[in-house]
Amino acid sequence: MPEIRCNPVTDQWVVIAAERAKRPQDFRVPREERKYTACPFCGGHEEETPPEIWAYRTKGTDKNTPGWWVRTVPNKFPALRIEGMLNERSEGVYQAISGIGAHEVIIETPRHQIEFQEHPVEQVEEIIRMWRDRSLDLRRDHRFKYIQIFKNHGLEGGASIEHTHCQIIATPRVPKSVEEEINQGMARHQEETGRCIFCDMVEEERKSGQRLVVESDHFLAFCPWASRFPFEIWIIPRRHQDDFVGISDNEIKSLAWVFRECIQRLTNILDDPPYNMVLHTAPVNSESHPGYHWHIEILPRLTKLAGFEFGTNYYINPTPPEMAAKALREGHQPVVRPH
Ligand SMILES: [Zn+2]
Ligand SMILES: [Zn+2]
Ligand SMILES: [Zn+2]
Repeated sequence: MPEIRCNPVTDQWVVIAAERAKRPQDFRVPREERKYTACPFCGGHEEETPPEIWAYRTKGTDKNTPGWWVRTVPNKFPALRIEGMLNERSEGVYQAISGIGAHEVIIETPRHQIEFQEHPVEQVEEIIRMWRDRSLDLRRDHRFKYIQIFKNHGLEGGASIEHTHCQIIATPRVPKSVEEEINQGMARHQEETGRCIFCDMVEEERKSGQRLVVESDHFLAFCPWASRFPFEIWIIPRRHQDDFVGISDNEIKSLAWVFRECIQRLTNILDDPPYNMVLHTAPVNSESHPGYHWHIEILPRLTKLAGFEFGTNYYINPTPPEMAAKALREGHQPVVRPH
C-alpha cells in the first residue's frame, strides 16, 4: 500500500510508492567520460569570465590571473541584474517588481577534471567559507532579502558547464519555499510545543536511526520522512541557528566532511547521479526569524516531474527514504561496476 506522507516543515505531501520500490541499481546510468575541453572556469582562462568578485589566491598574484583555489565571478548570463532601482508596478490586477538581484558563480577549483566528491576535505571547507564570505558581503545591499546558495550537477540537474561550481543568487523578495517553511510547519510546531521542528527532527532521526545517513560532531545527514526525490538527503546543523553565516570554523570542518561524504555515497551507489543542492537559511534585511533553522537539501534528479506533481504539488517517490538511507549507509565503498 502506498503511503502519503506529510513533510512537517512545509506541509507538502509526498506519495511514497513502496511497491514500485526502486533500488539504487534501478537508477544507475553509465557515467559519461569526462573529456577536457577548453572551459572558462579553468585555471589560465580567467579572462574568459566576467571580472572576479572575490578569490582565495596566493599572495602576490593578481586578480583575474592564475594562483587562486576558489574564485567567485558574476554569472555571464544572470537570472537577475545587479544594476537599477527596485521598482514595483501594477497593470490592472497584475503586479511586478524589477528583476534586481545578484547572480554569482563560485568556481570550486581551477582544475577541470575533478568532481565535487574528489575534492580534499580542506577544499570543501574553503568552498563553504566562500559561501559565508559572499553571503556576508551580499547582504550589505539592502535591496536583497534572501541569499540562495545552490549547486547544480549533471545535465538533468541543470548544469550547463561541467567544471564543478556552485551558484549564489540574491533576490529582492523572500522566496515562497522559505516563507512556507517559516510560516507553516515551523510556526505551528513552535506554537504547539514551544520547540523547533528541525531540532526535534534531529532528535527523532538520531533515536530512530532508520533514515540516518551519516553524522558528525555538528551535523546530521538523513533521508527526510517525506522525501520528494529518491535518495533525497537533508543535512541539518545540530546546534539551533537561524542564519547560515553564524557557522563557526569548527562547524565548517564538520560540514565539509558530511557534505562530501553524502555526495561520495550518492556517487558510489548511483554512479554519478544528477542532483541539486540548496541551502535554506533565514532571510536577510527583514524581520528576524530566530526560530528558523538553516539546513542543506540534496535532491538527486532521478525521477521526472509530470502532470500529477505540477497539478497537485504532491511528489511521487518510488524509493522509501528508509530504503534509500540503508543503501547510503552501506554505500561508503565504491560499488563494483559490471563490465
Ligand atoms: Zn574547466
Ligand atoms: Zn532548531
Ligand atoms: Zn528547506
